[in-house]
Amino acid sequence: MIPALRIGTGFDVHRLVKGRDLVLGGVKVPFELGLLGHSDADCLSHAICDALLGAAGLGDIGRHFPDTDPRYKGISSLLLLEEVARLLREKGFEIVNIDATLIAQRPRLRGFMEEMSAKITSALSISKGHLNLKATTTEGLGFEGRGEGIGATAVALIYKRDEPIV
Ligand code: MG
Repeated sequence: MIPALRIGTGFDVHRLVKGRDLVLGGVKVPFELGLLGHSDADCLSHAICDALLGAAGLGDIGRHFPDTDPRYKGISSLLLLEEVARLLREKGFEIVNIDATLIAQRPRLRGFMEEMSAKITSALSISKGHLNLKATTTEGLGFEGRGEGIGATAVALIYKRDEPIV
């Protein structure tokens, strides 16, 4: 049986400000600025949540975890990833793979990617080979290039158990 595959994309941006921790993929990255948001503002985890929810046809992160809800104030976005994975499996979906890109001029993120990958795959209960993380600058262009914010994009492929393509 060939399962019917579904694809979803995610995109998120948060503003860099003083007085906040910089948390990306569940990892606290040492930097003089952090991302502003209702939760920990982990844009990488948020982009992955949106890609998974999109693939499953379940809307977006704002629908499931509204930023007006005090329960999500300051929450670790790894918990949101865990909840999204739980929701998908409850609806009969399994994750095939995820590819995601962090977009930041500074700080250099390459040294933190392995730890981010470990935290995200653990939160989603998927094996390491099913997540690929990348990081890029924008060559100084745009808001990321000016260091005003950090962005992330993600693509997720999933399939529904017991749903053949033909
Ligand atoms: Mg967000």
